Amino acid sequence: TYVVTQNCILCKYTDCVEVCPVDCFYEGENFLVIHPDECIDCGLCEPECPAEAIYLDDEIPEDQQIFIDLNAQLAERW
Ligand code: SF4
Repeated sequence: TYVVTQNCILCKYTDCVEVCPVDCFYEGENFLVIHPDECIDCGLCEPECPAEAIYLDDEIPEDQQIFIDLNAQLAERW
């Protein structure tokens, strides 16, 4: 699944949301999250993010691994 990370915090762009074919972006506290059960791994959102905040879960930098859980937890509320 794809995951939204640190650089999304306080970003005002929603280019990612607009290209997602399954509408699996949700509002977190102060950043967007991707619902891991709904993401179909199409990869369309990654190049659209102007903050380069979106990663495939296997490719997330070491210091951002916490965002895998954060995306899952915050998306579950919806
Ligand atoms: Fe949506 Fe595709 Fe990005 Fe997953 S990879 S969040 S399905 S645009």
